[in-house]
Amino acid sequence: MLARMPELPEVEHARQVVVRALGEMVVTHAASTDAIVVAQGSPSFAHALVGARLAGSERRGKSVILRFVAPTGEVGLFFHLGMTGHVVVRPRSADDAVKDDHALRFARWSIATETTRVTLVDARRLARAIAGPHDDVLRASGVAKLGPDALTIHDGERLARCYRGKSGKLPIAPIKLALMDQAKLAGLGNIHAAEALFHARLHPDTPTSSLTSKDWDALASGIEKTLGTTLASLDPTKELVYVSDGGPNPFSVYRKDGTPCPVCGKTIEKTEHGGRSTYFCGKCQKKKR
Ligand SMILES: [Zn+2]
Repeated sequence: MLARMPELPEVEHARQVVVRALGEMVVTHAASTDAIVVAQGSPSFAHALVGARLAGSERRGKSVILRFVAPTGEVGLFFHLGMTGHVVVRPRSADDAVKDDHALRFARWSIATETTRVTLVDARRLARAIAGPHDDVLRASGVAKLGPDALTIHDGERLARCYRGKSGKLPIAPIKLALMDQAKLAGLGNIHAAEALFHARLHPDTPTSSLTSKDWDALASGIEKTLGTTLASLDPTKELVYVSDGGPNPFSVYRKDGTPCPVCGKTIEKTEHGGRSTYFCGKCQKKKR
């Protein structure tokens, strides 16, 4: 199953895969194999998790926090996937073959029960994980600093509220950049921000402060549409594989520059925001003055 890069849907998929793999089984092995990806705390990754049993999970934007019950109390495991992280599940009977398993080449941490091993694989080492007492993990994760999860926003008014400052004023920053600000709204990255704006017929350069209530409604629907479509395409019984350039691309505008707009046929254009490429249709997504 192919995906472009971890944004909200891929992280939700990872959460579901881990929950499904661990079930209510006791963790018998846990190992961190990368000091950059996994925070080196006290207790150690293994010490925190061995003997624990998964009791709950939550995701905010691109962050996941798993809650375990251990003989010593509640234990947490926070993780995010960075740019290339994904979860690989293998039966314990395959443990001996780990060295030859190409999919596990960039293993950063793993948790195993009697029957199943869950491994976080990340070639670029931008993923992060913290394990330890649940409340400490929650604090260290920075999740409290994130805006509301993008899947919990169902209408324009609620969406606009994410961006209003204390004065009630909206920023003049381009809406594309605002959508990717995790402290305001958690979960959208470069891909889904561009797709949501296309669905809402909003130019990515539009100053956030110039959106009308109709625009906010359209944008809230656009976010639901792009996240929902991708989420529905991800099967928690299958692993994700990120495609490199040239792989299949299910999106409307993302990396579709030079090809016709699926709505009007005009050529999709490419521009840049904060060093990241943005794709849009100049006819469907007119610039506001
Ligand atoms: Zn168009």
